[in-house]
Amino acid sequence: MSGIQISQTGGPEVLHWKTDLPVPELKEGEVLVRNDFAGVNFIDVYFRTGLYPSPLPLIPGKEGAGTIVTAHPSVTSTTHPDLQPGRTRVAYLGDASYASYTAVPAASVVPIPDGLSTEIAAASLLQGLTALTFVREAAGFSSSFPNQDEAPWVLVHAAAGGTGSMLVQILSRVVGAKVIGTAGGPEKGEIARWNGAKWVVDSQREDVVRRVMEITGGYGVDVIFDGVGKATFDGDLQMVARKGTVVVFGNAVSDILLFLNRRALTAVAVILSSLPDADAGMQSGPVPPVDLLALGAKNVKLMRPRLYGYLATPEENARYTKELFDMLATGKVTISMHDTYPLQDAGRAHSDLEGRKTTGKLLLKI
Ligand code: NDP
Repeated sequence: MSGIQISQTGGPEVLHWKTDLPVPELKEGEVLVRNDFAGVNFIDVYFRTGLYPSPLPLIPGKEGAGTIVTAHPSVTSTTHPDLQPGRTRVAYLGDASYASYTAVPAASVVPIPDGLSTEIAAASLLQGLTALTFVREAAGFSSSFPNQDEAPWVLVHAAAGGTGSMLVQILSRVVGAKVIGTAGGPEKGEIARWNGAKWVVDSQREDVVRRVMEITGGYGVDVIFDGVGKATFDGDLQMVARKGTVVVFGNAVSDILLFLNRRALTAVAVILSSLPDADAGMQSGPVPPVDLLALGAKNVKLMRPRLYGYLATPEENARYTKELFDMLATGKVTISMHDTYPLQDAGRAHSDLEGRKTTGKLLLKI
């Protein structure tokens, strides 16, 4: 079968297009999915660069959608009546989706309801479920706020990105929060606004902390969703309101920083620090260890959740997937698509994502 394989970690150039990969053999409880689309996510970059270690060679990709073609004998019409090989369109969170075929545990696939395209299902799962579970569980917004005066202030970083777009839409259209979004540049700002951020701060041109304190009349924000990490974390602690919650969930980092050697990095740091408007985002990455005492100044709750920790049981998986698909089917939430790339162009998709050139979702067409 064809697919993308990594034999060594590195830049986008290590994503090699292969046409002679073996079709995966099914283990107990697995089904074989013929992929139509694979989602591209920042986590794929972390595995490619080695920030998240993995045995090699590796077929990247954490989500996909297509049709079940066959199932292990342990997966029968009695155990899984809703999964019919040859017929059932499914989406899944799993491994190795940048390929024609992927073996997926039957418990991890979800049938795509009629009326929802395979493309939208593929584009919605990882980032949509991240946004939904983090809103419901990390921030604890289980109900909505019909009265804007009582609604919480929420800040979403990278509000025009894939996960950021979903967060802003759910927070503004479903929860009814007062959403401030940050975005790198005016075009992204427009998308953040369209997503539902009533206030948008240009993270490349404005002092985010100062603007957020102005917008909220000095109060700060009750909840911050931060998928950027190191570059924005100190500001988060300044902007968060008393008793507020900071949800750090990512470490967006340009691969340039991972591959420059120490001497080159020092030179880059000197140059950046000498620029008055140095792009803080380019210096992002994982948040360094935190002094817990710093949280006491405002009794802040600090979290670093992972999606999979909220989808640990089949019930959680089914409940949140249904809520997400319902929101998509009713049009409450829509997927902002950046682009669909041919599978062969996975490297270009990664470069665009890391280079902050994208808004919304990136897909690979298999
Ligand atoms: P996005 O589509 O949001 O793309 C990343 C965006 O981050 C960029 O467009 C850019 O937006 C912003 N950014 C800021 N600094 C940098 C930088 N140094 N390098 C690159 N981008 C930067 O990506 P995803 O939606 O796929 O992921 C967003 C974050 O969420 C990632 O950190 C990812 O790891 C995390 N995540 C975590 C999960 C979890 O379980 N914890 C699950 C899913 C995602 P702008 O120019 O507007 O600032």
